[in-house]
Amino acid sequence: MRIFVIGAGVGGLAAAALLAKSGHQVTVLEKTSSPGGRARVWEKDGFVFDMGPSWYLMPEIFEHFFEIFGRKVEDFYKLIRLNPSYRIFFPDDVIDISADLEENKTLFGRLEKDGARKLEEYLKQAQIKYEYLLEGLMYKDLAGLRAMFSPKLIAAGWKLSILSNMEKLMSKYFSTERARKILQYSIVFLGGNPKNTPALYSMISHIDFNLGVWYPYGGLGKIVEATQELAVKYGADIRFETEVTRLVVEDKEVTRVITTKGEFEADIVVSNADYPHSEMDLLDREFQTYPKSYWEKKTIAPSAFVLYLGLNKKIESLTHHNVILDYDWVRHFEQIFEEPSWPDEPAYYLCCPSKMDDTVAPPDCENIFVTIPISPGIEDSPEIREAYFDKIIKHMEKVTGTTISDSIIVKRIFSLNDFSQDYNAYKGTAVGLTHTFSQSAFFRPRHRSKRVKNLFYTGQYTHPGIGVPMVLIASEIVANLINKEYGS
Ligand SMILES: Cc1cc2nc3c(=O)[nH]c(=O)nc-3n(C[C@H](O)[C@H](O)[C@H](O)COP(=O)(O)OP(=O)(O)OC[C@H]3O[C@@H](n4cnc5c(N)ncnc54)[C@H](O)[C@@H]3O)c2cc1C
Repeated sequence: MRIFVIGAGVGGLAAAALLAKSGHQVTVLEKTSSPGGRARVWEKDGFVFDMGPSWYLMPEIFEHFFEIFGRKVEDFYKLIRLNPSYRIFFPDDVIDISADLEENKTLFGRLEKDGARKLEEYLKQAQIKYEYLLEGLMYKDLAGLRAMFSPKLIAAGWKLSILSNMEKLMSKYFSTERARKILQYSIVFLGGNPKNTPALYSMISHIDFNLGVWYPYGGLGKIVEATQELAVKYGADIRFETEVTRLVVEDKEVTRVITTKGEFEADIVVSNADYPHSEMDLLDREFQTYPKSYWEKKTIAPSAFVLYLGLNKKIESLTHHNVILDYDWVRHFEQIFEEPSWPDEPAYYLCCPSKMDDTVAPPDCENIFVTIPISPGIEDSPEIREAYFDKIIKHMEKVTGTTISDSIIVKRIFSLNDFSQDYNAYKGTAVGLTHTFSQSAFFRPRHRSKRVKNLFYTGQYTHPGIGVPMVLIASEIVANLINKEYGS
């Protein structure tokens, strides 16, 4: 089969590798000039920046993916477990979350009465959820009611607290705000708000406390290199600076893919590009399963104000992953989800991979990546960016206790307009669709178009959702659907 994959994000590259290995003739068409999409790498003056993902979680998902090709993670990169897993800066305290569970129990014992036992119980329920999801749900195509009403899922419903949310679940276990905040922070990964993120996602605490926070030496870009290497090894043709502008549908099938570099006849198309863009911009209205009215009603995940900074000095107070919770974050969530505006008192994340990786910065320098979740669709201009940049640098100086503004030798800002321009992201979203109850699992947009027979979708908008491991799974689901129907 001649399969065209739109987009060389991790989802597109993984789908290309799997489909090429199954014997299909695969061509990947990518708008930008490099692979990886949101996980691209940007290099400047000896600094190597991962442009998006920096947390390597759920190592078993990566192992499983490479095993399909008879390969191991260590064939592609060296994986290191980080300790501390991360550091949280509160206004009056700095807390390290350790790779050692006993140390974390001691910490929670200090934070609140009976905290060690509560953490243990909380993590137990998180583990049950994770294991159920991994075995029962994550790798499944959830189209159709049969999947939703499977007896196994209904029976498991109570264990999974399907109808509860993170905030409610958290208040059942912990009485101090600090303990709750530590465990809730990670849902920001999911582009979520504690008020409406399903309690199911408390499984993420099992992921970071028990399974660990890892780092592929050289950076997360190693995952992009690995998936690209596999795709090319099995014969996929990857074409950069080739934007798809239209899908021509005849008899309910895509027959031609129109691009900025010519037209191609296709048997099957897999889109890894942002789902709203693929549907609204590439297809005529009659062939859109999810038209404009659908996306307008959805909770779109935050965009981000991202900084890539090369500093000509070291910052002692930082570790690899740093979470800055210097303000009460309720206001920040309101400014993302309820009153869209630039956050006055943001909670943010600061990554410093040069702490343990000397390949990502020149000697005695620091590679710093800052992400602040912001509302999708708000105004973005050079003036707003520069003013916000100054505000954040000042705050970083306060938190780290060192001057930064005089040590910046590389600077790049990436925000709303860049997400829209570079990736055709709807409203400039960084990560697609928020994981609310009505946008999770069965309720995410499908892997297969309902209106165009040979059109499939992979990537972070689809089940299981946001994050690099999740899009590897989505691509495996899609490759299996295609192979089942069209043969391999
Ligand atoms: C700032 C940030 C931090 C993150 N942190 C983490 C983290 O720590 N850990 C983690 O696991 N995940 C993280 N994520 C999420 C993770 O990066 C994404 O979920 C994942 O990379 C999405 O991959 P994808 O393949 O679905 O889409 P994308 O990476 O968006 O790939 C889509 C590709 O399609 C291309 N494209 C779009 N339109 C067209 C067109 N018309 N023609 C041709 N090509 C087109 C785009 O250029 C892009 O290359 C983060 C994301 C961001 C933005």
